[in-house]
Parts: sequence; structure tokens; C-alpha cells
Amino acid sequence: MTRIHDLVDHNAANTPDAPAIKDCDGRVYSWARYRELTHEAADLLTAQGVQPGDRVLVVGENCLALPVLINAASRIGAWAVPVNARMSAPEIARIAAHAKPALTLYTSNVSKEAAAHAAGAAGVAPCPTGFGALHLVRGQNDPEDDSDTAILLYTTGTTGDPKGVMLTHDNLLFAAQASCWLRQLTAADHVYGALPLTHVFGVASMLMASAHVGAMVELATRFNPAQLLQALRDGATVMPAVPQMHALLMAHAEAQGHATLGPSKLRYVSSGAAPLDPAWKRKAEAFYGIPLQNGYGMTESTAGVSGTRNAIGDPDTSVGPPLPGVEVRLDPQGEDPTVGEVLTRGPHVMKGYFRNPEATAQTVRDGWLRTGDLGKIDAQGRLHIVGRAKELIIRGGFNVYPPEVEAALNDHPDVVQSAVIGRRQDGDEQVLAFVQPRAPGAVTPETLADFVAERLTGYKRPNRIFVIDALPAAATGKILKHKLLEAFADRL
Ligand code: ATP
Ligand code: MG
Repeated sequence: MTRIHDLVDHNAANTPDAPAIKDCDGRVYSWARYRELTHEAADLLTAQGVQPGDRVLVVGENCLALPVLINAASRIGAWAVPVNARMSAPEIARIAAHAKPALTLYTSNVSKEAAAHAAGAAGVAPCPTGFGALHLVRGQNDPEDDSDTAILLYTTGTTGDPKGVMLTHDNLLFAAQASCWLRQLTAADHVYGALPLTHVFGVASMLMASAHVGAMVELATRFNPAQLLQALRDGATVMPAVPQMHALLMAHAEAQGHATLGPSKLRYVSSGAAPLDPAWKRKAEAFYGIPLQNGYGMTESTAGVSGTRNAIGDPDTSVGPPLPGVEVRLDPQGEDPTVGEVLTRGPHVMKGYFRNPEATAQTVRDGWLRTGDLGKIDAQGRLHIVGRAKELIIRGGFNVYPPEVEAALNDHPDVVQSAVIGRRQDGDEQVLAFVQPRAPGAVTPETLADFVAERLTGYKRPNRIFVIDALPAAATGKILKHKLLEAFADRL
């Protein structure tokens, strides 16, 4: 197998009638039907003039059209560029200006945001297909002479503007098998797809991994705790998610009077894409009744770098050992010799940043990807992420790692989630905390300050705490810290 659509063809040949995708409207598509639709979509792309090496931008939210178009692009040697419709029009315009797609499609049938973006685009036309009634608009052909790349995927934009990452067929096929190994996925699994397919965890660890073994993915248009709870009670066996999804699901269940999930077939649940708060891990395990595994990776590493395979209640706060075939080492930084920047090498490392050889050369050296994350490696060879290098706060000469302060705040029973950010002032750095309460007025900055004072030494305690109804988040649920700073700029 050399191309990502080979996975679909393989399952269609071997288990044509087995379920491949449960769409967000509840309809189930077999592997044979899914393959047919990817051919229909490939014909559509060709008819629209898309050439090998051209980009096909799909502005969407999870639904059948996304996996169909990703595989269709692969069939004709074009690159899929999945972008979340919940981004703002200027954000999408910036990505489009960078990706220069020959064709843009909008999943206007399922996403009102995608429909609104389509309505705002010049020259857009409705496009009825067997995989949904979409909208499309032609762009200029601008093919790259590159048959390795399958997907051009933009990073979350946590620390700045999203970066365009070229992921190859080999990257994705490797990530698919590594993720299957980690989760022991089989064809009998029913994977609940709350992660957006516009993010690396959704497309690599969820979609590609399921296709690797012929498991079914149930697509949720967007994360909805009530729907997720129902799906888990209705037979989903595997649920990969970001930490915030677990927190929001538990908050929802609690509000409904449920302290535990209750009877389900759930056998594997994981957290990735952002720091997992140890208290959330304990709570989630009590809620699900099974271990909560933590996986670490990034867009540039096709998701999987490492992952845990713990038993329930294991106090392990690591992100696990490197996946088979993946190398990890630390590049020591600063005073503490046990903490260093995490470097990783192997078949999961991206081809590079699109049309940005300088950034690629800075980030990948001799095959080693510089992750920008600070970590430790313990005696068992497990990796621990202590924070992002860019987010490290140095206050009065002491290192403050935001995830540790966030964990202390999140420990408060009336806090849903929090974000801690450093800000330079008067030659030092301030620790700013933004906190989302369980209900409006449930906590005040003063009560929170007292609460964390019992848990954190002086230099780690926030200088200022802001309580706000909702933290700005990406479509995955990851908190967008640079947007918080922008939003609060005049109050700081
Ligand atoms: P940008 O690069 O645009 O600023 P981003 O880094 O958030 O955004 P992603 O590729 O979605 O974009 O996220 C990868 C990052 O998420 C990692 O570099 C790391 O900082 C964080 N991360 C991922 N998994 C974990 C984990 N299990 N624990 C802690 N942090 C994690
Ligand atoms: Mg990043």
C-alpha cells in the first residue's frame, strides 16, 4: 500500500459490505459504497480541472464529504487541504491565500458555517453529489511537482498563525498503523469521531487508523456532549478526544445527575493534542470506568509521537514511551539538565512547511523535528511534556510552566478549564490566568487566588486572574491563547 486511498480500496475488496462510515445523519456507508463515492469525487475533481500537485481546499465540518474528498484527491494525485468551517472568514482567506487551491469545496449541506463561507465567496456554485450537496468555486491551477504529499494540513494556531504542513502518503500510512497498534484497533471497533477531520488527530489517528484495520468511524459534525454521551451508550468502542472534550462531557453528565458513564461498550478512551490535567485524568477514569490514555504529537509529526498503555488508576502523568519506529531525544535547555526541547525522528516527520524552506530547515535538522515542547524522560523511558518552550514563563528567574498552574486552577470544583499565559512587564514576566467557571458567578478571582495559594509556591501564583464565560477555542476544543491575549489587550 503506497497511497492513502489504497486503504479504502483494500477494505472495499476484502470486506465490501462491512460498515466504513456512519455519517452525522446516522446513515451507514459500506466500504464498497465509500470506494464508489471516492471515485465519483475523483471524477468531479478532474472535471473541475484539478491536476496532480494542485491543492483542493475543503472548508468543512465532519461529514461524509470530508473523507471522500481526502481520498478522491489522493486518487488523482492532488493534495487535500481540510480546513475547519468554524474558523473566521479572514482566517480561512489567509489559509486559502497561502495554499492557493485550484478548487475549493464547502460542506454546506451539514455546516451552517461552511454555507455562510460559501455564500460569501465569489463565483461559487452549488454542486450536488452522491456524498452531499456541496458548494464549490474554481481557483487557479498552481501544481507542485510533488507526488509524495497527500494532505496539506494547517496547525491549530495556538501560538500564532497556522502553519501549512505537508504530510505525505507515507507519513499518514505510518501514523495509521502506529495508532492502530497503540489502540489495538480491530475491524470490530466502532470509533466515535468527535475530533475534527480538519485536525491531525482526527485525520491521522482516527480516520486513517480506522481505515488501516477496516473499523467504522461514526462522524459527529462537531463536538456535542449530549450526542457523545448517547453514542457511548449506543455502542461506540473507541473514543479519541482532546482533554477539553472529556472535561466538557463530564460537566454535562454531572449536570444531568450522572457521576459515571454507566453501561457501554467503550474499551479505549484517549486524550491528546493538549496537556492532560492529572486531576481530569483521575476524574475521567472514574467516569468512564476504564483507563484514560494520553497521546502526544503535533501536526508536524502526523500526530503520534508517543502514547501511554496504562491500566486504570495508574498515576502515570507521562505521554508514554515513543511509538514503535519513532525516536525521541531531548535537547537540554537552560539551567535544569533534566528538561529539554523534545526532538523526534522517524517516518512520522512531515515533509516540510509548504513553500517555506527556511522554516522547514529551522524545524527539521538531520531528520530531527524540533517540537518546540519542553519535556523530560523518566527512568522507564516515558516522555513527560512540561509545557511549550514559547509559553515558558520566567518570573524573577524562576521557571513557571503554564500547565502546572492551569492544573491547580482546574482542581477547583467550580472551574471547567483555564489558560495561563506569561506577559512581559517592567523587565519581568507576569503570570496571567483566564478561568472558565462551571456557571456564571460560581467563582471570583479572589476565591481562586486563595485556592491556588494553598497549592502553588509564591512565584507560580498568578499575578492576575480573569474569570470569563468561555475561553476562545479551536474547533478541536484546544484553547487559543494568542486570541485571549488579543481579546484582553486593552485590559492588561
Ligand atoms: P501552532 O503550532 O499553530 O501554534 P499547535 O502547536 O497547537 O498550534 P497542533 O499541531 O494542533 O498545533 O498541536 C501540537 C501541540 O499540542 C504540541 O506541540 C504540544 O504543545 C501540544 N500537545 C499535543 N499533545 C499533547 C499532550 N498529550 N500533552 C501535552 N501537550 C500536547
Ligand atoms: Mg505547533
